[in-house]
Amino acid sequence: MIRYTLSCDQDHQFESWFQSSAAFFALEKAGHLSCAVCGSASVSLALMAPSVSAKGSKTDLSTPMSEAEKSLSKLRKDVEDNSDYVGKSFVDEARKMHDGEAPERAIWGEAKLDDAKKLVDDGVPVMPLPFMPKRKTN
Ligand SMILES: [Zn+2]
Repeated sequence: MIRYTLSCDQDHQFESWFQSSAAFFALEKAGHLSCAVCGSASVSLALMAPSVSAKGSKTDLSTPMSEAEKSLSKLRKDVEDNSDYVGKSFVDEARKMHDGEAPERAIWGEAKLDDAKKLVDDGVPVMPLPFMPKRKTN
C-alpha cells in the first residue's frame, strides 16, 4: 500500500491509500478519485521527476512500516533539499527533460491526474509523491 497526498481545485488536501501507483492510475481512469472534502473531481497530486537520488531513497513497500516511514522521511528531505518546485509547469518541464529539450534536474510540482497519467503512458519517468513537500520560497 502507498499513501498519496492529493489536492483539489479548492485547495483541499487529503490523503488516500492505494495498492500501488498502477492501481492509483487505474482508479483515476475509472473516475473514482474525487476530493474527500468537497467531492470535486478536479484533483491533482504532487509528482517528482526524475528521481532525486537514484540509489538509496527508493521507498521499498515490502519493508516493515517503521522502515518504510524512515525511507519516506528521507525521501521527503531529499525532495525538499535537492529538487526545485516548478508548480503547475511540472508536466511541461518533465516532458522537456524526457525529450532532451531541457537539462535533467530534480523537480517536483503538481499535475492534474489526467496529465500525470499521460506522462506515465508516454514513458516519462515521474513518480507520485506520497506527501506534499515544503515549497521553497525563492
Ligand atoms: Zn475539495
